[in-house]
Amino acid sequence: MDFSLNEEQQLMVEGFTELMETENWENYFRECEENSEYPEKWVKAICELGFDRILLPEELDGFEQGWISLTAVYEALGRAGAPTYVLYQLPGLGTVLREGSKEQQDAIFSYLGTGKQVLNYAMTEPSAGSSWSDMRTTYRRVDGKIILNGHKTFQTSAMKVPYLVVMARDADNMDVYSEFFVDMSKEGITREPLHKLGLRMDSCAEVYFNNVELEEKDFFGTEGNAFRRGVEDFDLERFLVALTNYGQAYCAFEDAARYANLRVQGGEAIARYQLIQLKFAEMKIRLTNMRNMLYEIAWKHENGELGRGDCSMAKYYCANAAFAVVDDALQVLSGVGITGEHRVQRFFRDLRVDRVSGGTDEMMILTAGRAALRDYR
Ligand SMILES: Cc1cc2nc3c(=O)[nH]c(=O)nc-3n(C[C@H](O)[C@H](O)[C@H](O)COP(=O)(O)OP(=O)(O)OC[C@H]3O[C@@H](n4cnc5c(N)ncnc54)[C@H](O)[C@@H]3O)c2cc1C
Repeated sequence: MDFSLNEEQQLMVEGFTELMETENWENYFRECEENSEYPEKWVKAICELGFDRILLPEELDGFEQGWISLTAVYEALGRAGAPTYVLYQLPGLGTVLREGSKEQQDAIFSYLGTGKQVLNYAMTEPSAGSSWSDMRTTYRRVDGKIILNGHKTFQTSAMKVPYLVVMARDADNMDVYSEFFVDMSKEGITREPLHKLGLRMDSCAEVYFNNVELEEKDFFGTEGNAFRRGVEDFDLERFLVALTNYGQAYCAFEDAARYANLRVQGGEAIARYQLIQLKFAEMKIRLTNMRNMLYEIAWKHENGELGRGDCSMAKYYCANAAFAVVDDALQVLSGVGITGEHRVQRFFRDLRVDRVSGGTDEMMILTAGRAALRDYR
């Protein structure tokens, strides 16, 4: 399998790499992280280079690229220390093209190039985390209107997004799960911020829907189609998390390697001590595995060969392998990494969150395990 990039992909990667070198983005990220603020200036800058159009079709001025280009761009941004976890909604805009009405598409695509947060998908509730069967948010038709009631929790970006796709059950037939494209300025919606261990440049919130009035045109996709829609998009979501994890590990590894070659203890650079070399051997093995897995999955996706459990496997593997790499990098950096403001601290916290958000390690294992066994039935 040849993972080398073509000329167009190389140019794209070079553009994003150069952008990361144009200014001290790390200072900006640190500020955003401290203030729990979305790094809109940076997202706008990468969108001006076309980040949000990488996968989109030409009609939307898109580059019509596939997952390999996406992987290469995430790799370049992650390596430079960028918080690529805030970007999850942008490669996912294809869902709006597939499911959204013309009106919904116009609303979302008017944000292209702005760097602003625009949309997320609300499934999780206090009673429904890994399993949706205890979902309690419902909708009911009353006098020509649709009335939405419920409570979603752990909602990423929810403090800022103007639209949320909300999953709810038909109160008159709880077997029917549908989704609504909800304008968050509607009456009856309240949001409360949640503090997080990591991923702090994106908000997280409780969202309450109290008799929110919707219309038939507000269905996202067709009624009763929520499960299929959710499952169809899980692969990309999990793949993006894995890409982010790999990028953070790559950055931490390079920070630690530079430091190990410079830091002198006992008259030697610490890089010359075998216990430190062992860490770099293990970090490198994990990085190589992550990279190979991600490019292979991207290749399989582009060639119609993506397996059912591939993205769950990648999310599980990369979240844990990247966590181990970052942990080793912190050990190499020691006091300098633990105190002060080193970015590796941030990755450590972010990665711990990613073993839960977007689906827990355990749920990834179950999906990947079932898929592996399926081939031998
Ligand atoms: C930072 C963050 C952002 C998030 N963003 C969003 C979002 O934007 N939209 C959204 O809808 N949701 C979001 N979530 C929700 C996230 O997907 C859920 O937190 C996650 O699916 C787990 O749900 P839970 O926390 O209720 O844990 P639970 O489901 O209660 O699980 C608790 C523990 O039990 C394990 N467990 C559960 N069921 C099984 C099983 N069958 N077998 C083995 N182990 C099991 C889990 O793996 C976990 O270890 C976010 C969560 C976080 C933390």
